[in-house]
Formats: sequence, structure tokens, C-alpha cells
Amino acid sequence: MNVKSTGFPLIQSHRLEAPLGSFMEHVEVVLIGDGPFILFDAGYPECVPEMLSWVESRAGGALKKLVLTHHHFDHSGGAKAVCERFGVTAYAHPLEMRLLEEEQPGLPVSPIREGEFVELGEMRLEAILTPGHSPGHLSFWWKEERILLGGDNVLLPSTTAVTAPRGNLGDYLESLEKVKKLAPRLIYPGHGPVIEDPISRIDELIEHRKMRDAQYLEALEAGHDTPAKIAEQIYQDLPEGKRKLGACVIELHLERFVKSGEVACADGRYSLTTGPL
Ligand SMILES: [Zn+2]
Repeated sequence: MNVKSTGFPLIQSHRLEAPLGSFMEHVEVVLIGDGPFILFDAGYPECVPEMLSWVESRAGGALKKLVLTHHHFDHSGGAKAVCERFGVTAYAHPLEMRLLEEEQPGLPVSPIREGEFVELGEMRLEAILTPGHSPGHLSFWWKEERILLGGDNVLLPSTTAVTAPRGNLGDYLESLEKVKKLAPRLIYPGHGPVIEDPISRIDELIEHRKMRDAQYLEALEAGHDTPAKIAEQIYQDLPEGKRKLGACVIELHLERFVKSGEVACADGRYSLTTGPL
């Protein structure tokens, strides 16, 4: 990657520790450019002082805009503080904008749509719509360097939470395939280290979902007929909070099978329609 006169690479990532009790342990914010700069995501609200001082130490007053991959508070919690401190506007997909405006009234936010570019001198990052985790989740593609700022779409070592009401498993799997087709060399994710072998990781994630599908169907066949019962069966070792989240994930997997006709649902109870696996 190019290193410019500032001594910093054109992409810098900074890890912010999540507040105690958070589902994730940390979140990453990414700064691009060598002056001016653009910040991608703004971290948890609790991380604002550290995040601002990091951006200030790198970008000084030369921050041009803030871009949000999606509305979740671990990525957008510091958005207002960034906009106020640096006098910039936040950009997000229109579907996320609507949620941001509800959750953070007064945040200056403008739309960025699929196929539009975030431009900074010679760097042009294309907005790629990668829904599933969130309906208007965007990734940003630097084609010349084959680098993707991936938000929460492709993570390592954790997997992406795809839960009701706004998560969509079918969209998520399509988004993984979409990113795989780009054949990125590196992915800067929203949580975790830079992914240096993105294609293998995407294949692993797709396989992981397929394995889960099979596990959930087996549990269903064994008579565990609600997401909560299946979660109890499969996630026995997890603490209750995570088991509940697991049940939400299971519900989306099962709903996808309801749509495809393999599973029926009546009064919140699920059953196989196609006989044994
Ligand atoms: Zn998220």
C-alpha cells in the first residue's frame, strides 16, 4: 500500500474497546487519506473521547466527511461528536439514514447510494450495498488496490449477527457472494483484524451458515419445535443472553425454510414438511 509524506498508510484502522457487557469486544474505525481525510464509522458512544483524540492526532482539522457503514450504535454512536468537532456531515445509505434520524435526531446525515463513490484525491471507493446484517449496510470498494472496507459483513474471528427484525439471512448470504465476486485482496472489517485471505473467510462463513442450517433442521426433526428450544439444545454452553440472541438467529434461519417450503410454522411452532433429512 502507498505510504505518503505523513508517514501513515492511506488506510489506518483504530481499535476501540467495547464498553463492559457489550456483545462484541471491540470495534474498529478507519481513516482514509493523507490529508484531507475521511473517517469510516465512529464507534460506541462510550468511546467518543478516545475516538476523537485518535482522529485529531491523525487528521487534525482536515477531516472532510464521516461515512457510516450502517446505523448500529457500535458504529454510529460517536457520529454526532465527530460531526460537531470537525464540522462535517455523516453519509449513510438512505435505509440507514432513516434509522439514524430516528435514533439520533439532529445528526447531519446525507445519502450515499450503491454505485456512488467516496472520493479523496486519487482514491475512489465505491459504495457496495451489502444488506443482511442491516438493510442498508454498505461496504466500500477500492478497486485499484482491491481493498474493501467491509463493515460487519465479513468478520474474523466472530460471525456476523443476522437477527430479526432488521436482519435478513437470504440477503446476507447474497452479500457474501457479492463480495466474493469482487475478489478482494484485503478486507478491513468493522470488528477484528484486517482479513488477509478474504475468499477463504467468505467460504468459511457460507459453510458455517450451511452447517447451522443442518443443525437447526436436525433439532427440529428431534422435536425441538421453537427457536428457544433449539437454542437451548444447540447453545447449551452459552450464557443466557447469548442463547437468546441465538434463538433470534435460529428464527431467521427457520423463516427462510418456511419461505422455501421446507418448514411449516403454526402458532410459533415449527415442523419439517419434507420428512427426515
Ligand atoms: Zn452492526
